[in-house]
Amino acid sequence: MNHAKLATQFVNNTERAHWHDRALWFVRQKRDKMADSVPEWERLRELAAQIKAHTLSNLPELLEQFEAKATALGAHVHWAKDADEHNRIVHGILDSHGATRVVKSKSMLTEECCLNPHLEKQGMEVVDTDLGEWIVQLRKDKPSHIVLPAIHIRKEEVGELFHEKLGTEKGATDPDYLTLAARHRLREKFLAAQAGITGVNFAVAETGGLVVCTNEGNADLGASMPNLHIACMGLEKLVPQLQHLGVFLRLLARSATGQPITSYSSHFHGPKPGGELHIVIVDNGRSRILTNEHFRSSLSCIRCGACMNTCPVYRRSGGHSYGTTVPGPIGSILAPARNAEQYKSLPFACSLCGSCTDVCPVKIDLHHQLLHWRAEIAKSGLLSWNKRLQMKLAAFVMNRPWLYRQVGRVIRIGLRFAPGFIKYNRFNQWGIDRDLPEPPSKSFRQLYQLRADKKDQETHEQS
Ligand code: SF4
Repeated sequence: MNHAKLATQFVNNTERAHWHDRALWFVRQKRDKMADSVPEWERLRELAAQIKAHTLSNLPELLEQFEAKATALGAHVHWAKDADEHNRIVHGILDSHGATRVVKSKSMLTEECCLNPHLEKQGMEVVDTDLGEWIVQLRKDKPSHIVLPAIHIRKEEVGELFHEKLGTEKGATDPDYLTLAARHRLREKFLAAQAGITGVNFAVAETGGLVVCTNEGNADLGASMPNLHIACMGLEKLVPQLQHLGVFLRLLARSATGQPITSYSSHFHGPKPGGELHIVIVDNGRSRILTNEHFRSSLSCIRCGACMNTCPVYRRSGGHSYGTTVPGPIGSILAPARNAEQYKSLPFACSLCGSCTDVCPVKIDLHHQLLHWRAEIAKSGLLSWNKRLQMKLAAFVMNRPWLYRQVGRVIRIGLRFAPGFIKYNRFNQWGIDRDLPEPPSKSFRQLYQLRADKKDQETHEQS
């Protein structure tokens, strides 16, 4: 995949690109207001980072503790080394219960593992019950954001979709009306479901309990109406103790959507009376990241999406341009860890402004890790020939100050007189939508020298 090429499809629709940018910036501003209203915000972030660092350092023991406690509560714990095994396990559980109608709440892990297509191939019906995810599913589309999966879709498009699929009034765009129509149809799916699949936001090692956060209460319905509940979690979702949840629950919703708290933070301790709870713990490349000192803290991510909402590249290029389940800054770190060759363009889809690092509630040094990925990709020989050539030329010039000065001079003068086709052509991707600024008559060094000379002269005159 190539981020720049995929982004072209998104930015070609200028109106959508601007609207998407504004919508996410609005969420970012809501997050800022919420963060500002909590005086101990920075202390909470620091605590969260320390708890996660401790968890990652003790992950094997904590996972075993969690398994023992969850099993004692009556849950069945399964381990999956990769996406295939995860899908096989989930299918096996459903199959052994004769379940073919499944409701699923939002779970990025199941997206990562492509669970829906796997189960559908086996003749099962899987309905995504988070409203945004359901809209995406009805369009046979993919989520473009981990918290706001349908953020790339306008309400007019949802109206058309619901008219076609649910028979709502033609041209209806009222969110309340459309949401009510979705609610009625989803309620039928909940009532008919034979199993409910949920993700896991936090798993508590000390108690063996799970926490699932939603704004729509759909995970609760899915987990409590059918007798079979399957909870799928990445192995990094652990927190050591119940008291740690307070730190993360305060940070999560504020960072994600600018709400003081998620509408439903549901705790599951073992199966419901008469029911079964299966917990599938998935590695799928996570333990490889755990052993890498540069990228291990990326496993601290609590999937709030704040780094996406603030990222100037994500906001303007859309989530689908990343070609991976988790897009944005954190996705650009996690995806190359799974397949550096395939996702080598992602760490370069970054301005290194550091805004993602500033907002991350668990203090992941995102832009530093993205920079480090660039070095890793260059070292592995995965850079394209033209990028390598550009870097070699830049290094050659920058290592020779006299040459750097001359080249700067030639470019400054040359750009002033060069015809348009020299400045704007297929090699200058940046210039497709932008005009180059007027070249300055003097270089930075010349201006610096002039300023220093002037200061010297003033000092001399005063003395
Ligand atoms: S990296 Fe940080 S800001 Fe981004 S989704 Fe994860 S927790 Fe949120």
